Amino acid sequence: MTGTIQRVVIVGGGTAGWLAAALLVARRPDLSVTLVEAPDIPAIGVGEGTWPTMRETLASIGIAESEFLRECDASFKQGSRFDGWVDGTPGDSYLHPFSAPPQGDMRDMLAAWQSACPDAAFAAAMTPQAAACARDLAPRQRAMPDYAGALNYGYHLDAGKFAALLARHATGRLGVTHIAAEVTGVIAAEDGDIAALELRGQPALAGDLFLDCSGQAAILIGGHLGGDWIDRSDVSFNDRALALQVPTQPDAPIAAQTVGTAHTAGWLWDIALPTRRGIGCVYAARFMDDDAARQVLLDYVHAHVPGADIDRLQPRQLTFRTGHRARFWDRNCLAVGLSAGFIEPLEASAIVLIELSLNALIENFPASRAAMTIHADRFNELFRYRWDRIVEFLKLHYALSRRTEPYWLTQRAPETIPPRLAQQLELWRDQPPSSWDFPRVDEIFSAASQQYVLYGMGWPARTNAAPSPAATARLAEVRERTRALAAALPANRTYFTAAAKAAPDERLVRT
Ligand SMILES: Cc1cc2nc3c(=O)[nH]c(=O)nc-3n(C[C@H](O)[C@H](O)[C@H](O)COP(=O)(O)OP(=O)(O)OC[C@H]3O[C@@H](n4cnc5c(N)ncnc54)[C@H](O)[C@@H]3O)c2cc1C
Repeated sequence: MTGTIQRVVIVGGGTAGWLAAALLVARRPDLSVTLVEAPDIPAIGVGEGTWPTMRETLASIGIAESEFLRECDASFKQGSRFDGWVDGTPGDSYLHPFSAPPQGDMRDMLAAWQSACPDAAFAAAMTPQAAACARDLAPRQRAMPDYAGALNYGYHLDAGKFAALLARHATGRLGVTHIAAEVTGVIAAEDGDIAALELRGQPALAGDLFLDCSGQAAILIGGHLGGDWIDRSDVSFNDRALALQVPTQPDAPIAAQTVGTAHTAGWLWDIALPTRRGIGCVYAARFMDDDAARQVLLDYVHAHVPGADIDRLQPRQLTFRTGHRARFWDRNCLAVGLSAGFIEPLEASAIVLIELSLNALIENFPASRAAMTIHADRFNELFRYRWDRIVEFLKLHYALSRRTEPYWLTQRAPETIPPRLAQQLELWRDQPPSSWDFPRVDEIFSAASQQYVLYGMGWPARTNAAPSPAATARLAEVRERTRALAAALPANRTYFTAAAKAAPDERLVRT
């Protein structure tokens, strides 16, 4: 290995690998980037919900929004709705939208909510996005510049098509070298770093920095380097999923948010794309067997997708290990994606972690091997913080539930609640979550996210005695904007029908 870090080798061609390749070359064109993927080992093929961060990611890679939406069969995601999580009674539903509440002291805002519109749900009082979601509206008009919106949004997408688009873009337009070959072994340098990879049927591939994007196989960070794994299944019980894709009618409404519906031993996701719905059942094997989960999934489809041909649906079984690496960056190998870890799909925290990992790498790219160890230590400290916060935030959804099935009772057993979350819940009896609780730059789940879950699930709001005129005015502005956006924004279906009609013209303009 040379002293400078110039050759980056990425193992794996799923969402993590291709995002890494495209972002690295787009932002560091001076680097040589090679992606190697095994043609016979499929990518996981799920991961259909992104965070708003994806807009900046795609823009920085140089993909037009219309191209992305069309090629990935994508739709807009404005947050997550949770049905049946509080107690499972009819009407039990709350929203965690992407748009934050108005700026200002949350105690004051809570007082304004309770005095001006006590019957409105917390999210509906705090942001016009709640009404937009309830009406299946798009967060933007087609005439707006790419990636701009009247409301904050991410995407729902077809994971296979997304990886394929990134691959075409990275190799065709950005100059990433692609090798289709299985990595069969590692050639170690004298100091223990990775010097090169052995490939089936091809010459060895040398590099300075290796990104392990090989998914759950984690062939470099786990298989070769054998780093420690931190198991989080004592807090996060879900370890299986059954996934389905259900075609929909061309005029069916397209939901503006992921819908997560609680069941007796887990929850179901429902993600609407223009041509189909991705529906899955997440569960904990120690509380529910696969046959029972399959039945829960099919019953949901039967009840929620009009005209679905249940007999033809073949759910795909996925199992996952809950936890993450102790060191994500070890020697000259950085794990990105599922190789770094996974904590169930609730709140879609995996792809955003991939984006954050790559941003951290690119903005602190080691110029030399000597600097790499310092960067690695900093990265490991930051991402350990982030994984801990994810575990706690996901647990919050379960800890506040009042459901009474054994799975849900165990979810809120005190010994399964992380100590920091238990402490915060104690604090949040007296004061709302704030940036004092989440002080870092780029917190994945900010105080606003905690507030939406907390007050959405009926946590008692400790407010100021009376709202200030400023807070009352801000919530009045939310109501005014709700009316204005309802008139100005198209329904998702209208947006995508118009986009499909205009697609040939858009192609003409670009060529
Ligand atoms: C049920 C479920 C639902 C999810 N939903 C969401 C969601 O809504 N939002 C979200 O953000 N995330 C979600 N995730 C996580 C998301 O799917 C992943 O984070 C994302 O797809 C990235 O996967 P990956 O690229 O790390 O791995 P993979 O997609 O598994 O790709 C691994 C790659 O490594 C290659 N490979 C493996 N071994 C070798 C070898 N020996 N040699 C060469 N190549 C090799 C394979 O060929 C493949 O290309 C979900 C996960 C699960 C399990």
